[in-house]
Amino acid sequence: MRLTKQRKIILEKLRHSRSHPTAVQVYDQVRSELPNISLGTVYRNLDILSKEGIISKIETCGDQKRFDGIPDPHLHIICSCCGKVQDAPKEPDIDMDQLTRVETDFKITGVRLELLGVCPECNQENN
Ligand SMILES: [Zn+2]
Ligand SMILES: [Zn+2]
Repeated sequence: MRLTKQRKIILEKLRHSRSHPTAVQVYDQVRSELPNISLGTVYRNLDILSKEGIISKIETCGDQKRFDGIPDPHLHIICSCCGKVQDAPKEPDIDMDQLTRVETDFKITGVRLELLGVCPECNQENN
């Protein structure tokens, strides 16, 4: 895939931050280098990058889509209060391949695993 300058900068920002930003947050970050870029362009590029498997899209229910510079499957921890997404510090021993070998009529295309919890900040607010 041809990496346009815009796409390259979007990818760099995404790989640099581990915060799993939303498209709007990516837009805010790339604007420092590409002041004329539109939010629509950012959306479109994020979409292309995730379809190409260069980044991954995290779809959490009821929340905005978030994007991840790491395309390989890994475990996410999601705050059910504020929607913050973090990578799990250590992967438990899960055989992803085995999970896809379940007997079904579906053509299995992937596995999505998420841990749900309450982040330290939200936890503090609730106390
Ligand atoms: Zn939170
Ligand atoms: Zn991640």
